[in-house]
This record gives sequence, structure tokens and C-alpha cells, in this order.
Amino acid sequence: MTAPTETAIGTPARVSPSASVLGSVRDAAARLGTEPEIVDLLSTSWRELRAQLPVRMDNRKIQIFEGYRVQHNGARGPYKGGIRFHLSADIDEVRALAMLMTYKCALMELPYGGAKGGVMCDPARMSDTELNRLSRTYMQHIHMILGLNRDIPAPDMGTNAQTMAWLMDAYGQLHGHTPGIVTGKPVELGGSYGRDQATGRGTAVCMREHARSERIDPRDIRVVIQGYGNVGSWTARIASEYGFMVIAVSDVKGGICNPDGIDIAQLDRHFAIARSVAGFEGAEPITNDQILELDCDYLVPAAIGEVITGRNAANIRARVVVEAANHPVTPDADEILARRGITVLPDIIVNAGGVTVSYFEWTQNIQVFRWPLERVNEELENRMLSAFGQLMARAAKDGTRPRQAAFDIALDRVATAIRLRGFV
Ligand code: NAD
Repeated sequence: MTAPTETAIGTPARVSPSASVLGSVRDAAARLGTEPEIVDLLSTSWRELRAQLPVRMDNRKIQIFEGYRVQHNGARGPYKGGIRFHLSADIDEVRALAMLMTYKCALMELPYGGAKGGVMCDPARMSDTELNRLSRTYMQHIHMILGLNRDIPAPDMGTNAQTMAWLMDAYGQLHGHTPGIVTGKPVELGGSYGRDQATGRGTAVCMREHARSERIDPRDIRVVIQGYGNVGSWTARIASEYGFMVIAVSDVKGGICNPDGIDIAQLDRHFAIARSVAGFEGAEPITNDQILELDCDYLVPAAIGEVITGRNAANIRARVVVEAANHPVTPDADEILARRGITVLPDIIVNAGGVTVSYFEWTQNIQVFRWPLERVNEELENRMLSAFGQLMARAAKDGTRPRQAAFDIALDRVATAIRLRGFV
């Protein structure tokens, strides 16, 4: 496990992503009285595969990438977790994301353990043929630890339904046609209706339920979203359907802000041509740092991790931070936000809509049967409402923050499965 890294005097200490997740788990274990052996077991991964991935690029040169698949804990079922193509996807980042999946699946009562995969690359600078070759090479190196009842990958940052199609095909060449080996596939290849929008839908449902608990009309809630990829854009669309006023959004190329609200349908028309939210008429340009510090009600980080840190937490002006991205708030920032009375709705509930519909996709593939979109959305909504309701009730009963309540519920379930299996 990587120890917290040292920093110059006066700068906040940077904690490794996996050490931050572990901090939440240890806190929960102390509150629950979980046995030290179980905490030890959950402090490292069950298995970590690191592979060298040589890929022939379009210029005929070989480029060597590094890829990982981390299986954190499988007490509750087969490993489940996305695959990230991003330059920051190093082993510690992937390990932290695998840990989060263990607790996210437990919180949502899905019959899965936690895993994550990653390749350090910049997909925006690669052609489709290069990404196709990279995906197939990655699968050739990890297929031996996957399986329909063993480990089932899905999309994450930098990967999408097309990537899943390449991965499914590469796995099928080795093991025979197995659509359920990955989720988040194109609908034409066994994907589930509603999977593309599921994470954003779950995020918007959490926002709507939180607003309802505060008895505030969504039309009086100003929302800021960092990241306009799969999660951020669907959150914007569905939140505006619910009546929320989205006043700013951004992507890696920059952001836009209009305090009177942004028309998301018009923004999507601009995005289809410009491939970025930047340059949208009727809104002012804004940077990715500024967007986090805007005066708003709900701030939704939906891009990369660790964007709210000890450096900027004192400047956050939102009332509620809705963690659509994974671990966007560092532990020191979490403390600062709590002291300032800012509520943080944690990632393991907010973005759990994606893995929930991935679970629906897997069950549909196993049954060779398809659900209509209405059923997918209804079952997703029911599961989000149930998990969110349990979490808020637990927080109110114990006087804990939502993140603490989420980890208390999830760790309790994972520890119970570990005891029942006799791991310790
Ligand atoms: P994506 O690749 O579709 O979109 C990422 C967005 O973030 C893009 O708009 C990109 O331009 C922006 N971005 C990337 N780097 C940035 C930077 N340095 N600064 C500002 N913006 C940046 O990815 P996604 O699938 O939407 O995932 C976003 C987050 O949600 C990730 O943290 C991911 O782990 C989490 N998540 C995704 C899913 C899912 O189903 N896709 C499920 C659970 C959690």
C-alpha cells in the first residue's frame, strides 16, 4: 500500500487514492467494531495483474502501454468494475477504484465484489484503429482472470460501448461467444437499454431525493457540473428534466456559465458539432478551476478524481457536493467541507446507477432476454431510492455524515459475507 506522499512545508499532504478509500473503511470499522483480520484482508487487493501492452500504432511504430486489472474483494460475488483509459490510471488509482467498487456493490445490494481495470493512455490522441488494437491486446493479457462468474468489466472514463464491443469480441475469440463477459455493450450486441444514461440518471435521482428531503423545489436549485462526458452530460439532461437549473458545465477543453440557466438541448446541438461545451453561445467562458468555486446550490464533479482538495475546499460556495466522479474530494477537503456545513453526497451512492444497470445487463445476457427501457429505468429508480433512503436514515440515526453512513452499511455487508464464507 502506498503511504501518503510528503509535500513541501505549507502545502496540504497528498494522500494516495487507495489510502483515502482505506481511511473511510478504517473509520467505519472503528464505528462498527469490525475484527482487525477483516480490516487487514480489505486493506489490500485479492489480486493485481499488471501487463505490458505492445501496440502497433498507425505510424507503424510499436508503443508500449501499461495496463492493470485489480480484483479487490470477491466475498459477495464475482468481481465487477469498469476499465479506465486515462493517463492518470496508474496502479494506485486503479486499486482505489477497485476498493470503491466493493463497497458500492454492497451498498446497492448487488451480488458482486469489487474490481477495476486501467490502461495509462490518452484515448483522445489515438485513432479508432489504435484503440481497437489496444483494447484487444489488453484483453489478451487479462482474459485468464475474467469469466462470466468470475470478473465482469464495464466502461469507465475514456472507454465506452465501442470499447466493450472490441473487448467482448476479443474474449469470444479465445473462449467462444460470451456477451455477458462485459457490460455497457452496444444495444445491438447484447447491451441493456438505458445503460448509457444509467450513471447520470442515478446521480439525478440522488439530487432529486436530496432536494425533496430538504423540501426545496428543484427549480430553485442551481447546479454546476464539471465534466460533460457520459456521466456529466446525462446528469445535466435528466436533472433539467426534473426541473433543476444547470448554470455551468465544463469539459477538458474548458467551461461555460450562465447564471440564468443553460438550455441543455441547445448545448447538445453545439456539442455534436464542436465536440466540446466550450464556445457555446449564450454563456460566458470559465475555467475548470473557476467552475468548482462558483456560487451555486449543488456542485457535481463528474470528471476526474481529487478535484476538491485542501487547496480549494475553503473556496467552495455550493451547499451540497454531489460526487458523480469517483473520489473527487480528498480526505482533508472532506473535513474542511464538513466544518463549513457543506453536505457531501458520496460517490458510492451517487454514481452507483451505472453498475446497477450493468448488473441488469448481465442478468439479461445470462437469460438471453431483453428488458424494455421502461423496466430498466423503473428498477434502477427503485434500487436508487432504496439505497439512498437507507443511507440517509442511517446517517440521521447515528448522527454521521452521508459518506460515513454509506461505508458503515457497505462494510457491514462485506464483513458479514467474509465471516459467512469463513475467510477469517
Ligand atoms: P467520460 O470519459 O465519458 O467523460 C469524462 C469527462 O471529463 C469529459 O467531459 C472530459 O472532457 C472531462 N475531463 C477529463 N479530464 C478532465 C480534466 N483534467 N479536467 C476537467 N475535465 C476533464 O467519463 P465518464 O464515464 O463520464 O466518467 C466520469 C467520472 O464518473 C469518472 O470519475 C468515472 O470513474 C465516474 N463513473 C463513471 C461511470 C460510468 O458508467 N461511465 C460509472 C461510475 C462512475
